[in-house]
This record gives sequence, structure tokens and C-alpha cells, in this order.
Amino acid sequence: MARQFFVGGNFKMNGSVDGIKKIIGHLNDAKLDPNTEVVIAPPALYLLLAREHLKPGLEVAAQNVFDKPNGAFTGEISVDQLKDSNITWTLLGHSERRVVLQEDDQFVASKTKAALDGGIGVIFCCGESLEQRESNKTIDVVTSQLKAVKDKISDWSKIVIAYEPIWAIGTGKVASKEQAQEVHAAIRSWLKTEVSEKAAEETRIIYGGSVSENNCKDLSKQPDIDGFLVGGASLKPAFVDIINSHL
Ligand code: PGA
Repeated sequence: MARQFFVGGNFKMNGSVDGIKKIIGHLNDAKLDPNTEVVIAPPALYLLLAREHLKPGLEVAAQNVFDKPNGAFTGEISVDQLKDSNITWTLLGHSERRVVLQEDDQFVASKTKAALDGGIGVIFCCGESLEQRESNKTIDVVTSQLKAVKDKISDWSKIVIAYEPIWAIGTGKVASKEQAQEVHAAIRSWLKTEVSEKAAEETRIIYGGSVSENNCKDLSKQPDIDGFLVGGASLKPAFVDIINSHL
């Protein structure tokens, strides 16, 4: 079974009521490749607004979710609250949260389990720093981030893995198609040996880090690149070209 191309838009801490309505209006009016699954992740405050305005068939993701069901956790949002608001996906493990908010592999894995158990899809982010790449630790870093998840879950059907080298995020320094393909292939082979042949064949592995309308086509032709997680460019009209990079 061919893996469906997947493009996520990570708005990060950007946007306003008017700005997000404009982006959504543009997406709603654009001619999008019907074979691409599209998910946008606005800041938590605008999730409901996004869901209300985005046309059916396009999905909304949170940028984070907590691993407890409810209670005294100031500032957090639960899986049930996302579901109650028709938010069907969440990002987890983004490097900005791992680095700035010091989320470790165990915490990210625990939140991944909570989301999947509750029926929310997870865009699970992993990736190495420049220093780790230069000391040849890329595959070790990525697979140990994945192993923390593997130790807690068994069903991989609602996970999309986003490989996002930290040195490529927001820097304009996109990974070359060879660099990205190499890591994606290594992740797929890890899935085959550590999870199952089915998970290796069916799990979407998407690339993130300075994806633009100029580099997406070449990257999308790589056999193990099944889509993109787009930051800066998801706020611009060029996001449509990235969604359509397979056309
Ligand atoms: P970028 O961000 O496209 O702005 O590099 C990607 C991401 O952080 O998901």
C-alpha cells in the first residue's frame, strides 16, 4: 500500500485572529492535491478558530498536549479536550520544546502514549543538533528518541515521524536530499527491525527544516520522504506549493 503524502504546517507562536483567518481562507480557496493529507498546527489559543474556519477534509493539530487526563495542571491541555474540540492531531517532541522547555525523551514518549491511547494522531518530531551530526551521532540520537516511544506503545498506525535536524530549522539551511533520504531510510530500517515490517512499510516519515516552495519538489522525490513539516513557509501562500509538491 502506497503511503499517503502528508504535509503539516507548524505555525509555532505566530499569528493573530485576522492572520490565521487569512491563511485558512487561502488554503480553503486553493486547489490542493487531493492525495495529500494536510494538517495545520496553530497556537493553542487559535485551535477552535482554525477548526471552525478550515474546510472539512483538512485537519487541525495542537502543537503539544499533556499526558494526564485532567486536573490541577495549570497551563496544560488534555487529549480529551482536543478531541472535544475536533482537533485530531498533535505535534510532540518538537526540538523547540525539547531544547527551550527541556522536555526529555521519556516525557515526550509519555505524551505520545497518552495521545495515541486517546485516539489522537501524533506527528512525532526527532532530530539531531549540528554538534551531534558533526560527531556522527545522527542515527543514534534519532533512534534513541524513537526507542523511548517504542518502549511505551505498540500501535504505530497513528504516528507520523517528522525528521527535523535542528540545524535546519528556521535557518534556511535545508538538509540536502541525500542527507534527508539517508536518515529517513535509517529510520525505516529501525522500524523494520525494532517494530515490524508493517510499521516500516506504512509509517509516514516526513522531513522538516527550512522546507520551501523551491526545495520541496526534489525532496519529495526521495523514496523514503513521505511529506513535510513546514514552519516559516506554512504562514505564506507558498505553503500551497509545498502541499502540491507531488503534482
Ligand atoms: P522551518 O520550521 O520550516 O521554519 O525551518 C520547521 C519546524 O520547526 O517544524
